[in-house]
Amino acid sequence: MLRFRDASIRSKLIALLVTVVFLVLLLSTAAFVVHDIRMFRTSMQMHLETLAAVLADNSSAPLDLDSAEAASHVLAALQREPSVVYAETIDGRGKTFAIYPQEAAAVPLPSDSGTGEPFVADGFLHVFKPIKLFPLLPGDPESGTLYLRASLEQLHKQLRRDLLIAAVILAVCLTVAILLAFFAQRLISTPIQRLVVATQEISTSGNYAVRVAKQTNDEIGVLIDEFNAMLTQLQTRDRELAEHREQLEEQVELRTQELSATAKDLARSNTELEQFAYVASHDLQEPLRMVSSYLQLLQRKYQGQLDASADKYIAYAVDGAARMQRMINDLLAYSRVMTRGKAPEPTDCERAWADALANLERRIHESAAVVTHDPLPTVHADASQLIQVFQNLVGNAIKYHGAETPHVHASAQRQPGQWVFSVRDNGIGIEPQYFERIFVIFQRLHGKEEYSGTGIGLAVCKKIVERHGGKIWVESQYGTGSTFYFTIPDRQ
Ligand code: ADP
Repeated sequence: MLRFRDASIRSKLIALLVTVVFLVLLLSTAAFVVHDIRMFRTSMQMHLETLAAVLADNSSAPLDLDSAEAASHVLAALQREPSVVYAETIDGRGKTFAIYPQEAAAVPLPSDSGTGEPFVADGFLHVFKPIKLFPLLPGDPESGTLYLRASLEQLHKQLRRDLLIAAVILAVCLTVAILLAFFAQRLISTPIQRLVVATQEISTSGNYAVRVAKQTNDEIGVLIDEFNAMLTQLQTRDRELAEHREQLEEQVELRTQELSATAKDLARSNTELEQFAYVASHDLQEPLRMVSSYLQLLQRKYQGQLDASADKYIAYAVDGAARMQRMINDLLAYSRVMTRGKAPEPTDCERAWADALANLERRIHESAAVVTHDPLPTVHADASQLIQVFQNLVGNAIKYHGAETPHVHASAQRQPGQWVFSVRDNGIGIEPQYFERIFVIFQRLHGKEEYSGTGIGLAVCKKIVERHGGKIWVESQYGTGSTFYFTIPDRQ
């Protein structure tokens, strides 16, 4: 059932107005009916009292003369008064002397004759009036009584009439009140209704151009004015916001264009750089090999024939040429990650791991390293590059071992959208400030006398992992060991 407080303002107003009018009418018609009935009753009583007084006066002589016939005759005058249904003349000794109507049997009178005022009992109006007697002898009674019994039918009829009038007035007035209420509610609820419709339109369409027409200057008029002013403000703000957004979009568009141009430039120069590194390292190999082999020839042929300094210089030159050759080879390997990389395909990491260890067999054997691994998954990758990554990481783990026998352990963790691989060792560890630097090409933390190498291994790993859309990083406790992590995302 719809609760009153949830009903529309229109229904509430109509209900309120009709209820108030109904209550006012009900109270006023009830007052009217009560007043009218009281008046009617009072006038009826006064009338009967007067009648009773007249009859009592007229009955005095018949009683004195002891003429029942004359007394009946007096009472017979009541025929003109239809409301009186019974009357009695009672002599001074309390005996019934005459009755009206004549042929009626005597009826028992109310035991209590009251205070002399007319009174209602058993559905009748009873009137007692003393009849003054003129006693001839001392001791004779000085008064008799006249008794009238009137039907209340007239009163009831009047009551019914009054009620009918009241009902008609109530019905007519209520109809008028309902019509008025419908009209009056329009004055209040129509502007509110308009406000509601406008608010709904704004909330569904977001159109702040809507305005509500004001028709009155009362509080609702003020409310509509304020509402319209608020809409104007919102509209202005909305327009400013839209302009702002347009400007922003233009700027973003501009920046995006600039960015994509820069990205294109970057990609082009990157490719050019890679091409250059590849071509340079490839083309440098030949003359370098020549320099290197002629230097070695010089060394072999003239060793001990020139002075000691010359031998030393030649030895430096041979060494430098060899180092340069290694670096150029490494550079070539680095640039080949992009230029010679194969399309990724499902690659069994167990297999790749085994191949990497096979390539490192001699070094593992020499260092007596203990290399273990957890079950490894199949990922989407270039198999030979994955072997290269494992090989570089395990190779470093063995190379940078500490005083203890090298222990290397690999595992793989599933994460949403990718696999995270880790290669852990118990080697010398890395200080945190070098965690980024070690992945840069030719960056080393040790001299070649301490640990051999050119500083290309981790740079190659990084390039391979990034080519697969992954990341590589290290966590390490200096002096305790390092763990290298890299991710291989699922096929995109
Ligand atoms: P290289 O081994 O030829 O020097 P890398 O690029 O493989 O080149 O490594 C770069 C540097 O990172 C190394 O010089 C070494 O200092 C450090 N490094 C790499 N792996 C480890 C490791 N497992 N433990 C400690 N240091 C490491």
